Amino acid sequence: MSAVSLLDQTRDFLARQHGHYIGGQRHANSENAYLEVVNPATEEVIARVAAAGASDVDAAVRSAQSGFASWQEVLPAQKERVLNALADKMADNRDLLAQLETLQSGKTINLSRAFEVDQAVGFLRYYAGWAQRITGQTIQPSIPATGQERYTAFTRREPLGVVVGIVPWNFSIMTAVWKLASALVTGNSIVIKPSEYTPLTMLKLAELAHEAGLPAGALNVVTGDGQVGQQLLTHEGTSKISFTGSVATGSKVGAAAMEASLTRVTLELGGKNPMGVLPDADMDKVADGMIEAGFLYTGQICAEAEKFFVPRSRLDELGDKLVARLKQFKIGSPLDTETDFGPVANMDHYRKLQGIFQQIADNGNTVLHGGYSLAGTGCYVAPTALLAHSIDDPLIREETFGPIATLLPYDDEDELLAYMNHGPYGLAASLWTESLSTAMRLIPQVQAGMVWVNMHTVLDPAVPFGGVKSSGLGREFGEAFIDDFTELKSVMIRY
Ligand code: NAD
Repeated sequence: MSAVSLLDQTRDFLARQHGHYIGGQRHANSENAYLEVVNPATEEVIARVAAAGASDVDAAVRSAQSGFASWQEVLPAQKERVLNALADKMADNRDLLAQLETLQSGKTINLSRAFEVDQAVGFLRYYAGWAQRITGQTIQPSIPATGQERYTAFTRREPLGVVVGIVPWNFSIMTAVWKLASALVTGNSIVIKPSEYTPLTMLKLAELAHEAGLPAGALNVVTGDGQVGQQLLTHEGTSKISFTGSVATGSKVGAAAMEASLTRVTLELGGKNPMGVLPDADMDKVADGMIEAGFLYTGQICAEAEKFFVPRSRLDELGDKLVARLKQFKIGSPLDTETDFGPVANMDHYRKLQGIFQQIADNGNTVLHGGYSLAGTGCYVAPTALLAHSIDDPLIREETFGPIATLLPYDDEDELLAYMNHGPYGLAASLWTESLSTAMRLIPQVQAGMVWVNMHTVLDPAVPFGGVKSSGLGREFGEAFIDDFTELKSVMIRY
């Protein structure tokens, strides 16, 4: 056991009477309504946060409107400095942020440090670097002159105004950083609504942003459930929604945004991501890859693989290698640095996974490993691998968002592609082969916003990310985010 001890700062933060973060300061809740934050490893209530009422939502959007007025005037080099100063503050508070995240989400402390802080800091610095590089174009129009006049044209990238960022529970810091960094570097202000399960880290991050020099109102945080998200996105002062979450909620959010006033919307949604194994692949590398692809953070990653298509002749071999690895997992407290498999993030999700285990039993699937929840306190389930009956098996169709790998054999390349493209989703996919030419031939035929070869789940801020089909609308990262967080204004001049 190497359990980390909680910092005094962590204990103090948990014990606070939390409100929202509006206008550059802590803002008391307008209503006597609260949400309990529960540690999924112990089932203990660790903090209470405010459940916003309509007047808190209104105050946050109004604050963001005045924050927008001042932030859009800040010169690009200063924007870059402020965002980098926030990255520094996050790095300085690495242990505090990681502990809060582990306590509220069950993510192992190693993952909280590596992804929620270190990687989020890297993403923030990447976005900061765009501040001085966002440009328009000059264009020569072909309008014929009738006299001595001439024409020229140019485009400007202008901020949209108030962005509302709605964040899921699986990566409470990193997903929020993607949104606030995209919004702020392009000159917008933002109101973030964290998930009701994981609101603590964002409340801390907002304080750090203020200390880093962000003007009051540029970043606001309102806590509450989906209803609060709905009120924010339909508020008349909101110009854009950046949503990450489930397909079901994302569809409602998209419809409400259109209905409200054609409000701009980016949707980063779920999937049922395939991993396609070619017959020539090295099965030890593939089995290691399946652990990375399907079991990191107990499978609660939007880009994780959930369905694995394997050449029939190699199914038994790969199944054995996977099970050998799953048996090695050290399941335990997420605060222990030696744990590599902690609880799932909350009791609602745990119950959903219990329902899926029952479905597997009822469906008569061959279970290679796991297939049950673990007895005792906490939201623990066994890492699970099973065989699907066919491509129409419900386990192949619906996102479980859990550590459940479903394997299905295929017979030829056409069948592999048909299987990989089956279903309504298209967030991410991976191909596993020793032949780069095979991979290059197949990549254009895979229906997904991201295709990895011999890797899976790893993201980089310079590489655009987002789904096709029902997995989303718009792209984050790279240069692509600029389109989604600015309006393109065209200017034509006669002189
Ligand atoms: P969710 O859709 O239940 O909730 C996401 C957020 O939306 C929460 O903050 C919630 O309070 C809010 N919300 C709920 N109803 C709302 C409404 N009607 N209007 C506005 N906001 C509302 O998702 P979740 O369970 O928190 O997260 C898991 C899901 O997120 C999975 O499906 C996963 O695949 C997806 N996800 C996608 C990405 C991506 O980048 N594509 C990343 C992470 C998670």
